[in-house]
Amino acid sequence: MSAAAATFVRTDEEWRRLLTPEQYYIMRQHGTERPGSCALLHEKRQGSFTCAGCGQPLFASDGKFESGTGWPSFGAPIEGSVTTTVDRSHGMVRTEVSCSRCESHLGHVFDDGPPPTFLRYCINGVAMNFEPA
Ligand SMILES: [Zn+2]
Repeated sequence: MSAAAATFVRTDEEWRRLLTPEQYYIMRQHGTERPGSCALLHEKRQGSFTCAGCGQPLFASDGKFESGTGWPSFGAPIEGSVTTTVDRSHGMVRTEVSCSRCESHLGHVFDDGPPPTFLRYCINGVAMNFEPA
């Protein structure tokens, strides 16, 4: 796991109570939701996307774009809200994105995004909640 000091710590038992089974699978067991399965993909309002595990704001609606992948995609996270680690699972080398506060798995970041960051944060919708501005 990342070296960042998580400040929102829960036991496995608590996470199972706190999250839905799908959220638990994705956020605590590094799973991936089916593309196109989450309503947040089509969220177009102004506001912020927060961590479903701890409530920390992760992404602003301004940075969201339609990537065509079926997962909510962003050019950049809110400063300091995520940590990244190298993920060598499934025979690929990817950069995993986790919440900096509770260390829940969120998704991955790729370097094929649009300007200005040229990054694509590919995030599981169920790992987030949306708070309208
Ligand atoms: Zn979190």
